[in-house]
Amino acid sequence: MVKFLDIQRITASFEPRLSEEVQRVISSGWYLLGEEVAEFERAFAAYCDNVHCVGVANGLDALTLILMAWREMHGWSEGDEVIVPANTYIASILAISRAGLTPVLCEPSEEDALIDASLIQSLITDRTRAIMVVHLYGQVCPMDAIRPLANQYGLKIVEDCAQAHGALYKGARVGALGDAAAFSFYPGKNLGALGDGGAVVTSDRLLARTVRALANYGSREKYVHQAKGINSRLDEVQAAVLRVKLSRLDADNDRRRQIARRYIKQMTNPLVQMPCVHSWLGHVFHLFTVRCERRDALQSYLSEQGIQTLIHYPIPPHKQEAYKEWSHLSLPVTERIHAQILSLPISPVMTDEEVQCVIDAVNSFE
Ligand SMILES: *Cc1c(COP(=O)(O)O)cnc(C)c1O
Repeated sequence: MVKFLDIQRITASFEPRLSEEVQRVISSGWYLLGEEVAEFERAFAAYCDNVHCVGVANGLDALTLILMAWREMHGWSEGDEVIVPANTYIASILAISRAGLTPVLCEPSEEDALIDASLIQSLITDRTRAIMVVHLYGQVCPMDAIRPLANQYGLKIVEDCAQAHGALYKGARVGALGDAAAFSFYPGKNLGALGDGGAVVTSDRLLARTVRALANYGSREKYVHQAKGINSRLDEVQAAVLRVKLSRLDADNDRRRQIARRYIKQMTNPLVQMPCVHSWLGHVFHLFTVRCERRDALQSYLSEQGIQTLIHYPIPPHKQEAYKEWSHLSLPVTERIHAQILSLPISPVMTDEEVQCVIDAVNSFE
């Protein structure tokens, strides 16, 4: 049996250091807003080749806080628009709604499932304020085509890096490719905590300060509240865990790439389409997604062969009840991707034997 993602094995591979670090924080008696988080913030900002990092409670909050901060800093109004890919995890879109802004859905490119930069211009109105790029599956969006548009129209770029810790675009790290970036440290991500966690990364000092205040009840100074903030913190235990795991992130991403290379080279079943890879140096393969017209049959077949797979994602955001107002929308590329996509097991702790099992199973599907 090959698990989709063996988190127990991942955690065990960091022992005994992980338990030692957690024990150290437990003994310290200091659990929030302390040195562990400050140290992790410094380390993670440096890892992203950026200046500021603010630890927050999760990826959704990181995205939301960036948009809330920009609203406050730039006087954006309720209903101002943010362009976002239609085929993303719904959290990207929920963050826009939660900040009181309006998500404007952009179709992805059929080839790589990332936002189709050639369609963005046609979606820009006089209320557009930002473009949210989502580095989906661990592959970076076509920033060279997006940055000039943002500059031309005076738009902010926010990167959703929840699936792309450590990914590179022409040698530059995600987290430093836009005006601000949001990360999630949900346990299953490439850099995962033992619970929830997230971070905002930016080179803009004022934005970092504003996010930090908004995440702390809108307060810069104890018991003085300048804005209607929220409570969203990364805790000391998770920060200590993340520092241990950050030290192996590049090596873990290398192992993911190695597995992906083997999959693409050795999976030769014409019924199963391999993912497009723009740059082998840059992709961090949070997910290894194939496409198949008979996706559900492929998934059941693999399951019979003992291979666990998942669908990212089965229902597109515009077909969710949460966004009933979009139920009339037709987004054919997004809908086709959702109907055909299947994620195969990939993780830094998979053995070569497990990789071979997945390859053999996919190749024997008829
Ligand atoms: C996981 C994920 C998020 C949300 O992160 P949480 O920490 O679960 O809130 C946002 N966007 C994308 C693309 C994700 O995959």
